[in-house]
Amino acid sequence: MIGQRDTVSGAHFAFTDRWGGVSAAPYEELNLGGAVGDDPDAVRTNRELAARSLGLDPARVVWMNQVHGPDVAVVDEPWGAKPVPDVDAIVTARRGLPLAVLTADCTPVLLADPVAGIAAAAHAGRPGMVAGVVPAAVRAMMELGAEPSRIVARTGPAVCGRCYEVPEVMRADVSAVEPAAHAETSWGTPAVDVTAGVHAQLERLGVRDREQSPVCTLESGDHFSYRRDRTTGRLAGYVWLD
Ligand SMILES: [Zn+2]
Repeated sequence: MIGQRDTVSGAHFAFTDRWGGVSAAPYEELNLGGAVGDDPDAVRTNRELAARSLGLDPARVVWMNQVHGPDVAVVDEPWGAKPVPDVDAIVTARRGLPLAVLTADCTPVLLADPVAGIAAAAHAGRPGMVAGVVPAAVRAMMELGAEPSRIVARTGPAVCGRCYEVPEVMRADVSAVEPAAHAETSWGTPAVDVTAGVHAQLERLGVRDREQSPVCTLESGDHFSYRRDRTTGRLAGYVWLD
């Protein structure tokens, strides 16, 4: 259910794995994505199970419509009847409001400044990392009073740089924007390391307290991987402040 969990000065970070839910194959078991073809009732139940296991009210969790872009939304309550915006990062200054990000190979990024009481969740696949969605989220946090030196950053399970094969020209394009993302597969072909790129971006912004999940989704049978399985579920990362 909850594969990794961490708390720093009242800031909580959690990432799910694929087990402990009610979805049938190929979404078994804990699919948290509502737009991947799974039974909506199963997804609703899974979101309740995951939230309850973290001590959260499922109705309070703020999700987003992720579109691989650089846009950020500031939120201070659940969307309710309002349309869910097409963004890849959400930021809040509301303590206790949980933010969630969905992934299956892309890098889930959770950020919090426990002193200022500002949290953010971001979805950084290759296009989002190149477009700068994570720096955009940090800047939005700073506008609300966060300081990079106080921000705690956790990145979750994602496809690793030894597995994420891309065409040579794509690696060159990505590396031109973010050299740290330049990688090579374990079989010696061009690759991209999105998580390394995200951490380099955070480091340049002055975010020093950073940790990276050791899990590669493509290599782990306990996690959903889009590149491995195509039709599959989505993992979630959650961040909230006391
Ligand atoms: Zn890997």
